[in-house]
Amino acid sequence: MRATLLERQGEPLKTRTLPDPTPGPGQLRLTIGACGVCRTDLHLRDHEIEATKLPIVLGHQIVARTEDGQRVGVPWLGWTDGTCRYCRTNRENLCINARFTGRDINGGYAELTVADERYCLPLPDELADEEAAPLLCGGLIGYRALRFTKDAARVGLYGFGSAAHMIAQVAIYQGREVFAFTRPNDDRTQKFATRLGAKWAGGSGEKPPEQLDAAIIFASAGELVPEALAALAPGGAVVCAGIHMTDIPSFPYELLYGERSVVSVANLTRRDGEEFIALAPKVPVRTTVSTYPLEQAEQALSDLRAGRFEGSAVIVP
Ligand SMILES: [Zn+2]
Ligand SMILES: [Zn+2]
Repeated sequence: MRATLLERQGEPLKTRTLPDPTPGPGQLRLTIGACGVCRTDLHLRDHEIEATKLPIVLGHQIVARTEDGQRVGVPWLGWTDGTCRYCRTNRENLCINARFTGRDINGGYAELTVADERYCLPLPDELADEEAAPLLCGGLIGYRALRFTKDAARVGLYGFGSAAHMIAQVAIYQGREVFAFTRPNDDRTQKFATRLGAKWAGGSGEKPPEQLDAAIIFASAGELVPEALAALAPGGAVVCAGIHMTDIPSFPYELLYGERSVVSVANLTRRDGEEFIALAPKVPVRTTVSTYPLEQAEQALSDLRAGRFEGSAVIVP
C-alpha cells in the first residue's frame, strides 16, 4: 500500500510503499476513503508535541470501509485498557494506557489501515467520505468542548478553523449565539464565520459587542486565555480544546474572579463519538473541505499552518 509517513519530527512527510497491514485479533482491515487533517498532526510534524512512535502514519479522522462493505469512522481514541480508574469511571478519554490513532497506532494518511473494531464508529450515509472525515476529530472533540460550556447562551470560538466551523453550526442549532474570533484582519475567515451564522466575527484582541458566557479556544496561542477571560461574564468558562498551547501569560486575578473558570478538554470517549455522529445529520453539520492526494499531505499541513483554506483539509488516497 501507499502511505505517507512522518519519519522524523520537524521534517517533511514522505510517501512510501509499505506492506499491506494485517489485522490482529479484534481488528478490522480497512480500505481508506478519506482522512481528515487535524492540528494535532501538524503539532506532531512540527515537533510541538512528542511522537511516541517513528516512523508513524499520521491521521486520526479516517473514513473507511470494512471487508464486508460497511462504512466506519476511526477516531483519535484507538484503544484503552478498560481497567484503570478512569476507564472504570466513564472517563476512558483519560485512560492512563490509552493508544491514539495516528500517534501510537498507524493512522489514515494511507490506502489501508487496521483498527480495533470496538473503537470504530458506524457512519450514516448522508455525507460523502471527504465531508464526513472532519467530523471525526474537529467535530467530536469540538462537541465535547461545547458540552463543557454547559448551557452558555453566548459562546465565543477562538480560532475559526476545522473544529469551529462545525461546532458553530451545532451551537446555533442548539439556540446559542456564536461570536467568532479569527487572526487579526482575517476578513475572509470572518466572512466565512458570518455566513455560517455567527452573530459577530472579529479579530482576536477585539472586544465582542456583548459579554460571553463561555469561550472555546481551538487555536494554540496561550495569550488567548487571558483575552477570552476578559470577554467573559461572571460565572463563564474558558474551554481549551487543543492538545498543545504555547505558554499562558500571567494575568490579573480579577480576570478569573467572579467564578470564571479555565478548563481543558482531552481526547474523546466513544460516547462522545456516538452522540455527535447521531447529532450531526440533524443539524445538519455541513463541512467545507479542501482535498489533497496522499502525495500532497505535506502541502496540506503547510496550508493549515499558514491558514490558507477555510474549514477542513482532507487527504483522499
Ligand atoms: Zn485531532
Ligand atoms: Zn484505562
